[in-house]
Amino acid sequence: MSTRSRRVLAVVAVLAFAAAAGPAPAAVVRPPTGFPSLPQSVASPHFVVHYTTAGDHATSPDAAATLSANAETAYRLIVETWGYPPPKDDGDGRTDLYIANLGTGAGAAREEPSLEQSTSWILVSTANLTSPYPIAHEFFHAVQMGIYAHEESWLDESTAEWAGQNVVSALGMNAPPNWYDAPWVSLNCGWPGPCDDQDIGGYRGSIFMEYLDERHGMTLVRDVYRRAAELGAGNGQAHSMQALSDALAARGSSVSGEFVGYALAASSGQINRLGVTNARPRVVHSLVTGTATGPLGPVPLTVDHLAFTNLLIMGQSRGTYVGACADERLSVEVALPPGIPTQPAFVSGTTVTPLAVGEGVARGVLPWSDCSSSTTTLVVPNGSTTADDQPFPVTLDVRLVNPVGASVTPPATPATKLSVKARAGAHGKLTLKIRTAVGGKLTIKATTRRNRNTRTYATAKKTVKRAGTVTVVLKPTTTAARLLRRARKQKVTAAITFRPVTGRQRTVRVTATVKR
Ligand SMILES: [Zn+2]
Repeated sequence: MSTRSRRVLAVVAVLAFAAAAGPAPAAVVRPPTGFPSLPQSVASPHFVVHYTTAGDHATSPDAAATLSANAETAYRLIVETWGYPPPKDDGDGRTDLYIANLGTGAGAAREEPSLEQSTSWILVSTANLTSPYPIAHEFFHAVQMGIYAHEESWLDESTAEWAGQNVVSALGMNAPPNWYDAPWVSLNCGWPGPCDDQDIGGYRGSIFMEYLDERHGMTLVRDVYRRAAELGAGNGQAHSMQALSDALAARGSSVSGEFVGYALAASSGQINRLGVTNARPRVVHSLVTGTATGPLGPVPLTVDHLAFTNLLIMGQSRGTYVGACADERLSVEVALPPGIPTQPAFVSGTTVTPLAVGEGVARGVLPWSDCSSSTTTLVVPNGSTTADDQPFPVTLDVRLVNPVGASVTPPATPATKLSVKARAGAHGKLTLKIRTAVGGKLTIKATTRRNRNTRTYATAKKTVKRAGTVTVVLKPTTTAARLLRRARKQKVTAAITFRPVTGRQRTVRVTATVKR
């Protein structure tokens, strides 16, 4: 997946080939001067694979045949199925592939660097012969150079990566993107960079190209290169962004509009091919709202052109449980720099909730709580094709939904088990057998009714150490005993309240008739 003349120069250095860095030589030799002899070859309709079975660059005839087959597969898909032109004919109608020990790299090289449309040959590492991916990527470079050979690395690499991933995907294999990690790096940042030390070439734009493909078809990239050839005719210059912009305009769209849509789609797993459904761009910023209410921020987000950032907002840090989850509302405002195409949005899983964009500000409101179950990602794209370091300060405000006596929902707990059996004995005694499933505290109040008055008959408290049955014997108060002597027998209602160590309080009532 390395690239063109740059990688080739590095390889050549390894081979102690005397070539100066800088402008490519006018006359290009094939195979490269100083290359080891590759006497064996295998020819197929569109390729000749050159290899050797001896020495440092040795490979097997089987491996060469596998490379040949993978190259034909790439040709069949890219040229015959997707509608791209074949590479420029170098004389025999076949693209030459050279197998050499390159370490981990592979490279396509243009053969006629001074020409706007160039023939190509491709170096393939002995370590890279079995996967269909590297040759598909490099073959796409050969296709590019046949249409127009002077584009910028970000366009060449993002589209070659897109093509390689789609070839692999068409073969039923997963092709997760290699460069999905730096959403803050501008789409068209590539060599001479450095944009970000994670991606010096612009490969990560493959997911943007995939998004465009899914909306505008696989011929879009071809049309970008055809437009580049028109723009570069006679001047040999790169016009990558202009060519992309013009090709999208011909389809009624724009780079800015597409990029903003891409940022939200990529952040919510809406780019479906290539096994990227479950991949998400890296979290750039994060914030915990916690148990406090009121304003938060501003969080000073800045975004470069054709890049995006995100702010992961959480009620609590992941895995943190704070007991009750207060019923809250989260309001978010993003101040917008003037003239910058954008659409901030909340993303939660695959759900995108755009903020309402008004004059200089975007606003959104979400139901919220101070628990870790509340989480959303605020995504902020900068759709400008040129303006860097644009400020998008974010302010947040957390409010309880019921400001007075906030409605706090206690965590659900299973019903407390409590059962009571009552037995009346002599001398007004009432024996309670109380069964509980956990430890806790019992509070018992027994009453009688007489002449429409409720009177206390007996009270008791008892601590229950563990699950099981406890026996409590209630004895009437002095007054109640005196009344019972007069009445001989009396109906008593005992209210048994159990406060378990965990869970909700529960009360059970039993009635019995006590005797003198
Ligand atoms: Zn490449």
